[in-house]
Amino acid sequence: MTAEISRLMELVDAAADEVVRLTQDLVRIPTVNFGTPESGDEMAAATFLRDKLAEDGIDATIYAASENRGNLVATLGDGNGPRLLFMSHTDVVPVEDPDQWTYPPFSGEIADGRIWGRGASDMKGTVAAQAMALILLKRAGVPLKGTLTFATCADEEAGGAYGFGWMAKHHPDVLRADFAVNEGGGGPVRHDGRLIYPISTGEKGRLEIHIRIRGRGWHASQPWRADNAIYKAEEVIRRIRAWRPEVSTRAEIFQHLDTLAGITEPVTDENIDQVLAELEKRNPNLASMLRAASRMTLVATMIQAGVKSNSVAEACTIICDVRSLPWQDVEYVRSQVAGILEGLDGVSFEVIETAVSNASPYDSPFREAVEAATRDAIGVDDIAFVPGISVGFTDSRFVRPLGNVTYGFVPSAPTDDPSRSGAHNINESIGIDSVIAATKFHVALAYRLLTRTS
Ligand SMILES: [Zn+2]
Repeated sequence: MTAEISRLMELVDAAADEVVRLTQDLVRIPTVNFGTPESGDEMAAATFLRDKLAEDGIDATIYAASENRGNLVATLGDGNGPRLLFMSHTDVVPVEDPDQWTYPPFSGEIADGRIWGRGASDMKGTVAAQAMALILLKRAGVPLKGTLTFATCADEEAGGAYGFGWMAKHHPDVLRADFAVNEGGGGPVRHDGRLIYPISTGEKGRLEIHIRIRGRGWHASQPWRADNAIYKAEEVIRRIRAWRPEVSTRAEIFQHLDTLAGITEPVTDENIDQVLAELEKRNPNLASMLRAASRMTLVATMIQAGVKSNSVAEACTIICDVRSLPWQDVEYVRSQVAGILEGLDGVSFEVIETAVSNASPYDSPFREAVEAATRDAIGVDDIAFVPGISVGFTDSRFVRPLGNVTYGFVPSAPTDDPSRSGAHNINESIGIDSVIAATKFHVALAYRLLTRTS
């Protein structure tokens, strides 16, 4: 670490309260995305951040996909050098039952060294870290030779049509960069006391299967005259649960299991499940992630049937969530579903691709800068890195086609237990140490890539 970088890391520590407060303020803005055009209200977060950046003389532009869907972009630097993009999203998933939460979901309460609330970990802590990185670089008077762009956008949780998807379509030049960091990875694992950070270089695709089951309705008082679509759904559900995916160890991460978990035997498509069953006992988080990286998942997530309690249901729709591996296209998914439903009468289905699988090279100069900045941020030199595959999808899929080498990587602090994040769940929270680490990481990354003294 250079003297200048340690000075910057100290500046972040000195601004810790401000970083935490900004995260709390963002959590308190209920940018809840129900997947409808009128929900989200990310404009409130965008204007709040614009005002915050303006206090330090940083100009930001809000690109409005519609009246309430704001995408905020701010830049620093002289434009003569590489372009680095910090990506994040300001929307959050809904809260189902606030009574199940220990702290009110939009309170931003601090307890147990953590900031609590919907969006704390996914991903307002990172939004705050990225904004504060710009602010602190500006305050420190770091001369950036190149362009640092901070884009925090709407609608990630519902597919990005008003966020990065819209920006990539209407303002691609704003997002185009040599390198980009986004959510998708950064939770460390430990092996033999050594810290290992997976860098997410690619992500699975996401599809929806809409299965329609047709029956015949009748008055519920004479149910034998009906062909109950709800009862017909029983066999469909049974088959979905019985389906077994093809198992594959093609993803790069499977060549790094020695570093990750001390697994020295070569893993193959044949032995991977046995290996994962063993790993499950000592590292359930890693085992679960590797399980998802080695197969397509298909799970029923919604079911709708009937229109009235005294009528037998005429129709039933089952919606499934599918996460496909990078080499499994729509046709592959369709053939799997056709196999599951084969021979069932009155059952049809439709496959909707909501996110295409995508990837960036692991072998890139960006990787060195990301690794060095992580060491700066965590304050540990002996860290190993491995390529990871995100089992969910992110906005990275919109900027990778623009040529941006994009990593899903925001390092969390080694002291922060990733299983406590509660993303998309009750009691979502983020460790304060992780928000500080993330701020340091973004500062160090910009410094290393955009000044020529590192
Ligand atoms: Zn997210």
